Amino acid sequence: MLINQFDITIMIGKNIWLACLLFVALLGGRAANAFPLSNGDQVQCHFAHGDKQGVATEIWNTYRQPEERNPELGRAVAVMRLNSDGWPTIIIDAEAHKRNAKGSPAIWDFVYFHECAHAQDPSLGEIEANCAAYKEMSRRGLMNFHRMKDLEAVHLSMLMLPEEYGGSGLKLWHKTLECARKSDG
Ligand SMILES: [Zn+2]
Repeated sequence: MLINQFDITIMIGKNIWLACLLFVALLGGRAANAFPLSNGDQVQCHFAHGDKQGVATEIWNTYRQPEERNPELGRAVAVMRLNSDGWPTIIIDAEAHKRNAKGSPAIWDFVYFHECAHAQDPSLGEIEANCAAYKEMSRRGLMNFHRMKDLEAVHLSMLMLPEEYGGSGLKLWHKTLECARKSDG
């Protein structure tokens, strides 16, 4: 009996050890199709449109040479594209994320929610996607004065932008704030 009890203790011990390993693996690894927010939360981009619903696919584009970047990214650090099956897919510049996610947490939270807004409604315009990102960050308590100023600075650094972005970073930012405040009240 003593031996059996000892065996059971070892078995329980092993299971706890396995559970710990699994926990560490879950913490250390990135969950499938999830994005790490600056507050440590892992978020997935749930969508439902047409005959499809689920979680948007994420592609973390890693590369050694700039030429190996996913051409869909263009000059962006992330884009949303529908794949050949019409499934929303968020392509993320993994190297840019590695470089500056810690230094510019608000920017990456914003980028993710902007692309997720496109995934949730592919017909959404750029100003609306920005507006949705701003509101989602506010809702999650990820917005404060300092973060708002960081986002503003990034927008103001973008001088000329295509018309769908309002024509300039300044206009895009103003229209984003206008939209976010309008739907606040
Ligand atoms: Zn966009």
